[in-house]
Amino acid sequence: MNIRQNLTKFKNKVLDIIFPNGFSCIFCGREIPQGDICDRCTEKNIFNTGNRCQLCDTPIKEGNIVCDHCKSHKRAFKSVSCPLLYENEIRSSILKFKSDGAKYLAKPFAKLIFDRLTTDDIQFDIIVPVPSHKKTIRKRGYNPARVLADELSLLTGKPVADILIKTVQTKNQKLLNFNERQTNLENSMTITDANFVKGKKVLIIDDIITTAATVNACALLMHKASEIYACAIARRSL
Ligand SMILES: [Zn+2]
Ligand SMILES: [Zn+2]
Repeated sequence: MNIRQNLTKFKNKVLDIIFPNGFSCIFCGREIPQGDICDRCTEKNIFNTGNRCQLCDTPIKEGNIVCDHCKSHKRAFKSVSCPLLYENEIRSSILKFKSDGAKYLAKPFAKLIFDRLTTDDIQFDIIVPVPSHKKTIRKRGYNPARVLADELSLLTGKPVADILIKTVQTKNQKLLNFNERQTNLENSMTITDANFVKGKKVLIIDDIITTAATVNACALLMHKASEIYACAIARRSL
C-alpha cells in the first residue's frame, strides 16, 4: 500500500468517526463512495418533486394548485416543505430514526430539508420543533423533531425555540376524523410565551407530515407570528 492509499484509508477512518453513517446509503444501507444516498435510491423517485399542493406539499394531479384537503380546511401556515415521499426505504429509515435510536440520521435528513427550504426560498427567524410528551421522550431517549431542529439550526444559523410543550399524550389519533384530531391536538399542547413569536417568521419542524393537523395545531398556538412555515423529512400522500 502506497502513501496515497494510506492517506485515503486514514481520511475514510476519520470521516467514519465524524460521520458514522458516512458512505452507506441512509435508506437502503448499500455502501457508496461518498454522500448519503445511493444512485439506485435516487433513481427511484423518492423525492417529493412532482406537482404538489401549494399549502401542504402533498402530491396532486398536474394542473391542480391546492389539494382537496386544504380546500376544505383552513391552514394556519403558509406552506410546507418536505423533500421526500414517505414510502418503502424512506419509511424504514425514518422509523429507524424515530424509534430505533438512529439519532445520527438527523444530520443527513436535516441536510435534505435544508436543500428543499433553499429551493422553496423559505425565510425564517426561528425554528420551532413539534413537541413530544416527556413520557415519549423518556421512552425514545429524544424528541426526533428537536434533534432535526438542532441540525437544521447548525446549517442555517437560526436559533431553536422550545416554546411548545406537549402536555397530554395523544393516542389512537387514526380513529378520529380530521376536525376531532385537530381539536385533540390543540388541547394536547401549550405555548410557554405566546408573545415571543410576535412579528417573527417561524419554521415548524416535524419528522413526517400526513394531514398536517399537528403542524396546523402548532401554528394556531403561534398565531402572533408574522409568517409560519412548516417542514418535515417526508410527506405521506393524502
Ligand atoms: Zn440506497
Ligand atoms: Zn394541501
